[in-house]
Amino acid sequence: MSLAGKRAIITGSNSGIGLGVAEALAAAGAEVILNSFTDRPEDHDLARDLGARHGVAARYIAADMSKGPECRALVEKAGGCDILVNNAGIQHVEPIESFPVEKWDAILAINLSSAFHTIAAALPGMRAKGWGRIVDIASAHALTASPYKSAYVASKHAVVGLTKVVALETAGQGITANAICPGYVLTPLVEAQIPEQMKVHKMTRETVIREVMLERQPSREFATVEQIGGTTVFLCSPAADQITGTTISVDGGWTAL
Ligand code: NAD
Repeated sequence: MSLAGKRAIITGSNSGIGLGVAEALAAAGAEVILNSFTDRPEDHDLARDLGARHGVAARYIAADMSKGPECRALVEKAGGCDILVNNAGIQHVEPIESFPVEKWDAILAINLSSAFHTIAAALPGMRAKGWGRIVDIASAHALTASPYKSAYVASKHAVVGLTKVVALETAGQGITANAICPGYVLTPLVEAQIPEQMKVHKMTRETVIREVMLERQPSREFATVEQIGGTTVFLCSPAADQITGTTISVDGGWTAL
């Protein structure tokens, strides 16, 4: 399947899942726009290198996804897009009584409102072409809850609601909107936590992964950024033309429990 001729914007893609999704879309032939809030030479180098490795056009556009006008400007500066992957996200873990208000506001802005703004900005171009793919990277926490993650769980549940509304507003127009719900994914951020967890629990790497980190993931295996990338490419393929307004879990059985 080739995505040649399609331009993809992936928000929050200078690391982790976003970068994995960008790799997969570029490998399928799409032009890719990487994004985060920083504007360092290494961010632009990352895009240049990715584009060169896959023989596709690739750019990095800095924009802070906590700010509505910057979300809309990202889409405009990219020249619109055929594929929009709303991936930027942050987390904070604290009981609700002491949950900092500014953390609540930031999580809702980045995890939820940014998708509202980028979708609103991208849809007119998709409608004009009669083709578009919107993929929101939600979470197993879009479908289930955990204590101390009020803002994250609320934002991810809300993103699924937004995805469904967009699917209804675009039905029959060649545009689909879906949410991918990953369980625990092995990103550099998660990898970095393993040595500390091994020390705290006095366990080997394998045991701390199985017994502590993946306690809620029945497969006892991390999902990978490549699997999230592959699921995104699938949602952009003709096989997925009638898949819209739904969620796809990539969570090793977490939400089946
Ligand atoms: P990560 O921290 O590696 O990536 C987050 C990305 O968002 C980074 O590129 C970061 O620079 C960017 N970002 C943060 N604030 C931003 C802002 N204000 N503006 C623009 N970009 C910003 O984390 P990740 O694990 O790759 O997470 C990516 C997405 O996947 C998030 O939405 C997260 O909630 C979701 N997710 C992750 C997991 C997991 O286990 N890693 C599981 C389920 C869902």
